[in-house]
Amino acid sequence: MKVKTIGVLTSGGDAPGMNAAVRAVVRTALSKGMQVKGIIRGYNGLIDDDIVDMNIRSVSDIIHRGGTMLYTARSPRFREEEGIQMAVQTCEKHGIDGIVCIGGDGTFRGARDLSLHGVPCVGVPATIDNDISSTEYTIGFDTAVNTCMEMVDRLRDTAQSHDRCTVVEVMGRGAGYLALHSGVACGATTILVPEIRLDVEKDIIDKILNSQRTGKKHFIVVVAEGVGSVDRLAQQIQSVTGIDSRATVLGHVQRGGTPSVRDRVTASKMGYEAVQLLSQGIGNRVVAEKDGKIVDYDIYDALNMEKDFDEYLHEVANAISN
Ligand code: ATP
Repeated sequence: MKVKTIGVLTSGGDAPGMNAAVRAVVRTALSKGMQVKGIIRGYNGLIDDDIVDMNIRSVSDIIHRGGTMLYTARSPRFREEEGIQMAVQTCEKHGIDGIVCIGGDGTFRGARDLSLHGVPCVGVPATIDNDISSTEYTIGFDTAVNTCMEMVDRLRDTAQSHDRCTVVEVMGRGAGYLALHSGVACGATTILVPEIRLDVEKDIIDKILNSQRTGKKHFIVVVAEGVGSVDRLAQQIQSVTGIDSRATVLGHVQRGGTPSVRDRVTASKMGYEAVQLLSQGIGNRVVAEKDGKIVDYDIYDALNMEKDFDEYLHEVANAISN
């Protein structure tokens, strides 16, 4: 099949570097003589026929911007057969022969469903959580982890000045990559991740008290969102140790900001590879990073892969965090 027109969409949570991926998709496709359609607000754009023509200049001046110029959405309607049928009709109407779907695992499930309905799709992994099983790296993680580091460094300044314990929640409902990496980078006393269950008394409070005995006066506890309430944990630490303890939820600040070099370069490579596949009529794939190289997998296989928690980094964190 000769691929004449491809679409590009961003879906799920936004991540810094999505724009760089969109740019790479648009420019690569145009350089191959294809036309490109921008699909607005993820799968909703396909259902609602919200489609724009993209040219070389449509993606000017976006490589350094966080967020996504195509907007993003979660689309419950797309999970229904009726929604998919409407999306397929929109593709037919605009002559869209294939779509690059930039987002997380949910976005890949949508891409698989659309591929099964005859519209070849290629997924590009973008989420600040780095929690996509098929890839070692997701676009947005590096920027987000650097934002966390900067924020926690600031909290350290004030915690140090007041001899306080600062308990910080970073994003990550089901995965602790952001917490683990930012915790190591910030010299956290304890890092709590959903993958490893810790005992509050033994693993957190006793550790703080032991560090206090060696002269430590301020403490940083980094907690992944999925572990539980940082307010409650701060209260618990304060009531047992007597150390003034404050909770901070970093929240959406972690999503925004100018993408790092790592995210811009990875997004450019992945966007380019996604178009290479679609231009050959190959769909139902996701691109991924493995051993530093860009590879691609069948979407079904990708969704069934399992990602190992970084036990080694966790061990390092435990050894040096006292
Ligand atoms: P992140 O969780 O990192 O923000 P994500 O891509 O996993 O990114 P989701 O909200 O899970 O985010 O999925 C994005 C969209 O993909 C959904 O709103 C829906 O339109 C589509 N989608 C998700 N799961 C499925 C599914 N099982 N089948 C079809 N489409 C799905």
